[in-house]
Amino acid sequence: MSDKACNDCHRITSGTACAVCGSSTLSSDWSGYVVIIDPSRSNIAKKLKVDLRGEYALKVR
Ligand SMILES: [Zn+2]
Repeated sequence: MSDKACNDCHRITSGTACAVCGSSTLSSDWSGYVVIIDPSRSNIAKKLKVDLRGEYALKVR
Protein backbone atom coordinates (compact mmCIF):
# COMPACT_ATOMS: atom_id res chain seq x y z
CA MET A 1 0.00 0.00 0.00
CA SER A 2 1.68 3.20 -1.16
CA ASP A 3 -1.02 5.57 0.05
CA LYS A 4 -0.54 7.35 3.33
CA ALA A 5 -2.94 8.53 5.97
CA CYS A 6 -2.98 11.93 7.63
CA ASN A 7 -2.04 11.76 11.30
CA ASP A 8 -4.34 14.65 12.13
CA CYS A 9 -7.60 13.91 10.30
CA HIS A 10 -7.03 10.33 9.05
CA ARG A 11 -7.65 11.25 5.43
CA ILE A 12 -5.96 8.90 2.99
CA THR A 13 -3.79 10.79 0.56
CA SER A 14 -1.32 9.88 -2.18
CA GLY A 15 0.48 13.24 -2.16
CA THR A 16 2.97 14.79 0.25
CA ALA A 17 0.43 16.83 2.19
CA CYS A 18 -3.12 16.21 3.38
CA ALA A 19 -5.71 17.57 0.93
CA VAL A 20 -8.15 18.33 3.73
CA CYS A 21 -6.23 19.89 6.62
CA GLY A 22 -2.93 20.66 4.89
CA SER A 23 -0.87 18.67 7.37
CA SER A 24 2.33 17.09 6.11
CA THR A 25 2.35 14.62 8.99
CA LEU A 26 1.48 11.50 7.04
CA SER A 27 1.90 7.89 8.06
CA SER A 28 2.17 4.78 5.93
CA ASP A 29 1.37 2.71 9.01
CA TRP A 30 -2.40 2.76 9.12
CA SER A 31 -5.26 0.28 9.07
CA GLY A 32 -9.01 0.15 8.60
CA TYR A 33 -9.91 1.58 5.22
CA VAL A 34 -13.24 3.38 5.26
CA VAL A 35 -15.09 5.46 2.66
CA ILE A 36 -17.32 8.18 4.05
CA ILE A 37 -20.01 9.23 1.60
CA ASP A 38 -22.38 11.18 3.84
CA PRO A 39 -20.48 12.64 6.83
CA SER A 40 -23.57 14.20 8.40
CA ARG A 41 -25.21 10.77 8.72
CA SER A 42 -22.16 8.65 9.45
CA ASN A 43 -21.29 7.58 12.98
CA ILE A 44 -17.76 6.78 11.82
CA ALA A 45 -17.41 10.31 10.48
CA LYS A 46 -18.48 11.72 13.86
CA LYS A 47 -16.04 9.44 15.64
CA LEU A 48 -13.20 10.55 13.39
CA LYS A 49 -14.41 14.17 13.47
CA VAL A 50 -14.67 14.17 9.69
CA ASP A 51 -16.97 16.54 7.83
CA LEU A 52 -15.84 15.90 4.27
CA ARG A 53 -16.65 12.87 2.18
CA GLY A 54 -13.73 10.71 1.09
CA GLU A 55 -11.40 7.90 2.05
CA TYR A 56 -10.12 7.60 5.60
CA ALA A 57 -8.14 5.28 7.81
CA LEU A 58 -9.64 4.08 11.08
CA LYS A 59 -6.28 3.84 12.81
CA VAL A 60 -3.14 5.83 12.11
CA ARG A 61 0.01 5.05 14.02
ZN1 LIG B 1 -5.43 15.82 7.39
